[in-house]
Amino acid sequence: MSNGVLVDISKCIGCRSCQTACRTWNDLPVKTSQNTNQWDVPVELDADTWTRVSCYLAGEGNERRWRFVKRQCMHCNEPACESACFTHSFLKTEEGPVIYKPTELNKDYCVGCRYCMIACPFNVPKFQYEKTFPYVQKCRFCYDRLLENERPACITACPTGALKYGDRQTLLAEARQRINSNSNYVKHIYGEKEYGGTSWMYISDVPFEQLGFKTSVSEKSIPSYTWQALKWTPYIFAGWGAMLTAMRFFTKPKEEGHNEAEMYAPVDPKE
Ligand code: SF4
Ligand code: SF4
Repeated sequence: MSNGVLVDISKCIGCRSCQTACRTWNDLPVKTSQNTNQWDVPVELDADTWTRVSCYLAGEGNERRWRFVKRQCMHCNEPACESACFTHSFLKTEEGPVIYKPTELNKDYCVGCRYCMIACPFNVPKFQYEKTFPYVQKCRFCYDRLLENERPACITACPTGALKYGDRQTLLAEARQRINSNSNYVKHIYGEKEYGGTSWMYISDVPFEQLGFKTSVSEKSIPSYTWQALKWTPYIFAGWGAMLTAMRFFTKPKEEGHNEAEMYAPVDPKE
């Protein structure tokens, strides 16, 4: 069974309890920030901020209203990060989360190439630039909690029911029922089909394009476009190494193959 989360943007009050719960459960450092006159703190996801709530003034005329959107990894059904990584550091689990194996299972996988960051259509993975031995960081959907039959930390912290965790198909049915029974909702479930579908899905009472969502995107997953090219990545790396070795062999300076006896033989003055 693949699980997901339904985010009802009309129910979010922007309290940021989910943001704090994520930081607490994952033992992420508290950040100090500059006063930028922006509500959003921090203004972007980063290696120590795996979820954040953005604020928007959306709607038209008298219908204008503040809306808040929780952001994190979308846990795509067919993740671009997973297909871009030639060391297979990412894994889409049966339960739904896309986990990063160097953290959960084995720290030796990731080589820091950051292809996953380029590939992700939602700009989610972040690199630990300031660390001596850096890794990529992102929301893990509290995979450790799910294995213990606990809900993700952010879900348990939400006081308004804006976040609902459960079986993805059941959540989709509930989302359809909610948007069809209330005319205030936009008739769209974001994440049902975008980029092949995602485990995190959103419904809203204001248009998604006014809330910073990428709309008019493909319903095909990124890997379905790129796997033909990406499957050659390991061979390109292996071939590149072999080519450099061959170049080194053919361009090696001749004196490296010197004969010690000749070099240090006494000089014959008659020569
Ligand atoms: S949102 Fe980005 S990081 Fe998350 S699963 Fe999808 S491609 Fe990977
Ligand atoms: S805890 Fe719930 S209501 Fe508060 S910001 Fe997060 S999603 Fe919104």
